Amino acid sequence: MKVVVVGGGVIGLACAWFLREGGAEVVVLERDGAGMAASRGNAGWITPGLSNPLPSPGVTLQALRWMLRSDSPFLLRPRLDPDFAAWLWRFWRSSARPRYLFGMQAMLALNARTFELYDRLVADGVEFEMHKGGLLFLFLDEGAAEEEAAVLEDLRRYGYSGEVRRLTTNDLDETQPVFSPDGSRVAFWFPSEGKRGSANAIWEQQYVWPFRADYRISYVADDYSAVIVTRLKRDYVWIMARQRSIPEAELRRLADFVAAQGYDPNLLKRMPHGAGG
Ligand SMILES: Cc1cc2nc3c(=O)[nH]c(=O)nc-3n(C[C@H](O)[C@H](O)[C@H](O)COP(=O)(O)OP(=O)(O)OC[C@H]3O[C@@H](n4cnc5c(N)ncnc54)[C@H](O)[C@@H]3O)c2cc1C
Repeated sequence: MKVVVVGGGVIGLACAWFLREGGAEVVVLERDGAGMAASRGNAGWITPGLSNPLPSPGVTLQALRWMLRSDSPFLLRPRLDPDFAAWLWRFWRSSARPRYLFGMQAMLALNARTFELYDRLVADGVEFEMHKGGLLFLFLDEGAAEEEAAVLEDLRRYGYSGEVRRLTTNDLDETQPVFSPDGSRVAFWFPSEGKRGSANAIWEQQYVWPFRADYRISYVADDYSAVIVTRLKRDYVWIMARQRSIPEAELRRLADFVAAQGYDPNLLKRMPHGAGG
């Protein structure tokens, strides 16, 4: 069988990979760079537990309200264009609760084998980093936490079987002291969810328009005690910590990480930070 896959994002490439495994002859057509679109700029969460579709009751109105906020988590850029109006109409219709639940069931079914398939890619020799450390949703607002609880209720009803623990402010103080103690907080902890890649976030900085500085958060310690910021050019690197000094063994481990990123660790300079720094 001969197959042409249009688009070399994570979806197209995964389809191509498994089609090849099944014996098909596959060609991937990509108009830009493979893996350079949405598949590059995402948060890397592998979360079968978040199988709730974006079109959901109330989200269209919310998106319209957010249109003027450039930092909106769901930003629509309105255009005087019939295609945009038609898309918005379809999106709004898909947000009705029966369609939303239908989409949720479909996504849960699609995502049920996610981790198993990632494990198969690893077994087949595809190299990537995978962390199965769980996922924490933190809410500063009880109302928003209750909305999430309702979504979780639907997910469970339609077959999500992963564990979800509701953490109170006290639980958080014990397990996640890094979060600010101000106000009441509620969190949902999904122990079985995961993340691909350690930390590939781009820390966007723009001192003078239109120039953007390239800083990458390449490493974040599990307890948030240290972070490593790198640059694509490999000309600067920063190891930053919450404490004034980093224990020697830990510093050596961080320096090894820096070396693995292509820097010369001998050029690292220790900056004094007051007593013991
Ligand atoms: C900010 C952000 C954060 C996200 N976080 C997460 C997350 O944490 N977890 C998660 O699971 N998902 C996340 N997502 C969603 C996830 O990134 C996408 O669902 C996923 O990358 C889609 O993959 P794709 O292959 O369908 O699309 P893309 O990666 O966009 O790839 C499509 C490819 O098709 C090519 N193409 C398009 N038209 C043509 C054509 N006519 N001919 C040739 N090539 C063409 C494009 O150039 C592109 O390379 C996030 C998305 C965003 C934007």
